Amino acid sequence: MSAALVRAMSLGLAGCEVCGLVSRPPPDGGAAHCPRCGERLHFRRPASIERTWALVIAALILYVPANLLPVLSTYTPLGAETATIMEGVVELWSPSSWPLAIIVFVASITIPLGKLIALAYLLISVQRGSVRSTGQRVRLYRMVRFIGRWSMLDVFVDTFVVALIQLRPLMWVEPGAGVIFFAGVVVLTMVAVNCFDPRLIWDLPQQEKQGNA
Ligand SMILES: [Zn+2]
Repeated sequence: MSAALVRAMSLGLAGCEVCGLVSRPPPDGGAAHCPRCGERLHFRRPASIERTWALVIAALILYVPANLLPVLSTYTPLGAETATIMEGVVELWSPSSWPLAIIVFVASITIPLGKLIALAYLLISVQRGSVRSTGQRVRLYRMVRFIGRWSMLDVFVDTFVVALIQLRPLMWVEPGAGVIFFAGVVVLTMVAVNCFDPRLIWDLPQQEKQGNA
């Protein structure tokens, strides 16, 4: 148990985030670089909590217009129609295409919000100096990171599925303003995940000051 509490930082060692090499930055506190690949070395990513919070809050704000504004405009000789993500899900909900409705709902509404809630939970638990379920929280972080790689799919799934299902002759489809906000949510969340330093999960409350220095 005690071995798990020894952190590289307290031994003056820093791991390179690019190549993984563990080295000892000079103790004078100046800018240190990885001796192997030249990447800047940090014991902890600078202002990780503040930056991640800012990005999570910005993404949550964009999440509102992303869901309220139309993501899709369809034009037919009879007139134009617009649909938000949720309206798209409702339209897809039929005996033949309900699995697609579920995919759009999960990819476009549940996963983006779930990632933001997970990040907020990780930030709050780190700020409160929680020492409980560290293993689970690291797994949660890895899961959010893993899902992030497929994030751009959300936008495509939503627009293309709805468009393909409804395409009829003499009809054209344009993305609505909601897509821009939606893409904003996805990008900000990906940057937020990269700003969060998972090593903070292992920092104990009494060592926090040292960690932020
Ligand atoms: Zn390196």
